Parts: sequence; C-alpha cells; structure tokens
Amino acid sequence: MLTREFVEAMPKVELHVHLEGATQPATLLKLAKKNGISLPANDLEGVKNWFKFENFDQFVQVYIACIECFRSGEDIELLAEEFAREQARQNILYTEATYTAETIFRRCGVPGDEQIEALLAGFAKVPEVKVQLILDIVRDMDVPNGEWTSALCQKWNAKGVCAIGLSGFEGRNPVARHSAAIRDAKKAGLKVSTHAGETQGPDSIREVLADADPDRIGHGVRCVEDAHLVAELRTSQIHLEVNPSSNICLGGYPGLAEHPLPRMMDEGLNVSINSDDPPFFDTTLSDEYWRCAQEYEFSTDTVFSLAQNAARNAFLPDADKKALLQEMVSRFNTLTSGLD
Ligand SMILES: [Zn+2]
Repeated sequence: MLTREFVEAMPKVELHVHLEGATQPATLLKLAKKNGISLPANDLEGVKNWFKFENFDQFVQVYIACIECFRSGEDIELLAEEFAREQARQNILYTEATYTAETIFRRCGVPGDEQIEALLAGFAKVPEVKVQLILDIVRDMDVPNGEWTSALCQKWNAKGVCAIGLSGFEGRNPVARHSAAIRDAKKAGLKVSTHAGETQGPDSIREVLADADPDRIGHGVRCVEDAHLVAELRTSQIHLEVNPSSNICLGGYPGLAEHPLPRMMDEGLNVSINSDDPPFFDTTLSDEYWRCAQEYEFSTDTVFSLAQNAARNAFLPDADKKALLQEMVSRFNTLTSGLD
C-alpha cells in the first residue's frame, strides 16, 4: 500500500517551482535580520500566518516583500544551497527552478551575472540533485526589462539556464509585448515555459500558444473549461505543469475534490505534479504527490508514472533524460522490491 514515506523516498523530478518562492521561513527571517529589513512577521509562527493568502494579488505583495531580503550574491547563494538541500531531502533527482533575476537586479541591485554565478555555486554544493534555471519575464515588466532577461538567458544558455519563462498577472498585459524577447531566446536554443490558465481561463492559454510558442505551460488547469482547447492540448501533448495546492491556496478551487487534475489525466493530457512556491502554500513536492494520491486514490504505479512524466518533459538533452529515467526506474525498483 502506498504510504507518505514511500512517496517521499520515491525518486522524483520537479519542473515548476520558484526559487524565491521556495525560501524557507527561517532563511527569510535570517536574511531580513542580516540586511536590516523589517517584515510584517518576526518569528516562524508570524511568517506562517503572513503566508495565508486570499488571492493572487495578495500573494504577489508578500512575494515581493520576500524578494527584498536578497541583497547580495552571498544571500542568493544561500537561497540556492538551501533550495537544493530541500529538493535532495525529498529525493528529487532533477529540478528546474524558475527565478526572476530582473526583479532582484532592479530591487536589490545585484547584477544578473553575479546572481547566476551565486545560484550555480549554491547548487554545486548539493550534487545529489541537478538543478537548472528557468529565468522568467514577469508579464507587467517593460519591454526592455524582458529583453534584459532574454539576453541573460542567452548568455547562460546550457550553462545552468535551460529556458525562458513568463509569469505574473494573466490578462492585465498582453503577452505579445514580450514575444520578441521570448523568440530571441528560443532562437538561441532555450526552451520556453509560460504560466497560463492559472487565474485566467482558456483564452489566456490560447494567447500564450499564439504569442509565446511555449514548450510547456505552467498550470494550464483552466483548459478544462473549453472542450476544443482540451482536444488541441491532447493532440499537441504540450506539457502542463500542474500545482494543486497553489491553485487551492490562491482561491482557484475550494479543495482537491474540485481540482481538475484527475480530469486532465482522464482526458489524456500531458501533466506533472509540482509545488510552485512550497513554503508559501505549506507544502512540499512529496506532500503534493501524497495529497493527490489520497484524494484521487492513485496507485503506486500511477504516482511513479507522474514522476516519470515530469522527467520525460524536462528540458534536458535526450541522453541526459534517458539516464535520468533509468536512474529513476532503478531506484524505484529497489524501493518496491521489498514490498508486496
Ligand atoms: Zn508558478
């Protein structure tokens, strides 16, 4: 029988997690103190309460306040190392972390290259997990700031950065204003992952498909509101990075019972399970798998096939992907060999 311990020990891959949003509350408090920044909370209990959201706007306000705590390469290296340690603790063998370098440059003054060097130095301290970066454009950024992000992606392409992302408020700013920056990154060999269909409906997904040519879509859950779009996504098999607790915490669905993940799977869509901003939503990747397994009565094989599907849709060269999948199967077989 599937247990929480098994899910934690199972080899996993995560494709949708924001580095800044994965900052542990204790780290946040430490950095705020070190950098003389006052937060609305000054102990762990207070941070937990502060991380209670009613909507996406409120979430973004808290998110920005947290980002202000990163003031130097040293702070960013600590963030990266702690992130990688937590991923490794959960037996995540490979992860792609989204990171908004431009926001930290603009708000905290750390140059882009220094940020990437610090992140890679932090990841390198935890060889148990391989981490690649997706540097994202926030939709409401000005066009030159999106181009700044694209240039940074291109400079670090295949040297720790695997993709350009698009995040932020859906529906307030047209995706098309960043089309050129995204296209330039794609031409230079980077992959593209765009958030859509999280807070807005099917039109938002159609918009990124038309204006950003994504290789994967972050969330995409609201596709289920349009049968034609579901059929299109089934045909294209574009990967949808689903984040159940995030959708529930930000008010998209009352609970897992109403969440469209099982329906997306029944429809034959290409999906994975991810944690998005885990401490903000009081979750981990293991929790996401475990909560879904309980709610939807997933078997051990279903849970592992979701993890394998994340690996299949990773932005890795084919040979690396094959090796990752082999490693996952080998570890899974060792884990299950003692079970009936
Ligand atoms: Zn996200």
